[in-house]
Amino acid sequence: MNRREFLEAVTAAAVVPAFALQRAPANEWGSPVFDLHFHLRQQPAGTLAHLDGAGVTKANLLTRGAVLERVKALQAAAPGRFTWFNSYDVTQPDAEQVLTQAVKDGAQGFGEMKFHVAADGPELRRVYALAADLRVPILIHFQEVDHFPNEGTWSTGFAKTFESVLKAYPKTTFIGHADAFWANVSADYHNEAAYPAGPIKRGGVTDRWLGAHPNLFADMSANSGNNALSRDPEFTTEFLKRHQDKLLFGSDCGCSDGHGGGVSQSNNPAASRLAGKCVARETLTVLKRSASDDIFRKLVWGNVHTLLRIPD
Ligand SMILES: [Zn+2]
Ligand SMILES: [Zn+2]
Repeated sequence: MNRREFLEAVTAAAVVPAFALQRAPANEWGSPVFDLHFHLRQQPAGTLAHLDGAGVTKANLLTRGAVLERVKALQAAAPGRFTWFNSYDVTQPDAEQVLTQAVKDGAQGFGEMKFHVAADGPELRRVYALAADLRVPILIHFQEVDHFPNEGTWSTGFAKTFESVLKAYPKTTFIGHADAFWANVSADYHNEAAYPAGPIKRGGVTDRWLGAHPNLFADMSANSGNNALSRDPEFTTEFLKRHQDKLLFGSDCGCSDGHGGGVSQSNNPAASRLAGKCVARETLTVLKRSASDDIFRKLVWGNVHTLLRIPD
């Protein structure tokens, strides 16, 4: 090591937070990978097959209802590889009670919250307040356009009302996800398609709010995240750089083996561009080619450890 290298190493050690110092081994992606958005599967073996197949080191299990025994079994089968979030019907009177108990049982966040209510309505507002009280993040599915007839909409009003929520709950950590969240990276979006294509018009609300509000983070999972990051390579590179501390890799992939086997996006006809593909692999590939090694590592590993206050 020459003098310049030595000084660089000292400087790097002084500014790099502890989470970024590598302990977990690098894998085929050149960095360990944490999948923020992975739905708990019926069989532990199926969950592990997806992680191992896609080259994913750890995952956050998104669960709903009473799942503690299943989560514990998986954590026992693969120690250190799983954290979990819990969700519960926000229209039920006991929602706060059930979600509080989940956090007492070890859940590290709420999610995914996917219900037919308004994003700024009373059902979700009380959960936003609870998330702040319990100091856990809340992951929300925003969708305004049906994928098939009568599917319905979820956490509605994102583009029009959600900034008022971000301001009203400054102590709540919000993680945005799904169609409306990602379509609104483009300023010309008006709920005309679930997954708009073509170049991105700069200045969309999602992009602006990520910059303006310290309590907003983004989950890049699913076809929605992959589609938004695949539309306009120049935009993607700048977007990843601009929000490098706010973006989190997730897959929301349903494929069986981490290579696109089985069904990857629940047979959603609007997401056919990812049929037969593993969403985790597709999105990791986009991130890898669009970001520097340092930024890639934050997106797929460092940021989520900071957010969930867990050691790597
Ligand atoms: Zn979702
Ligand atoms: Zn997959």
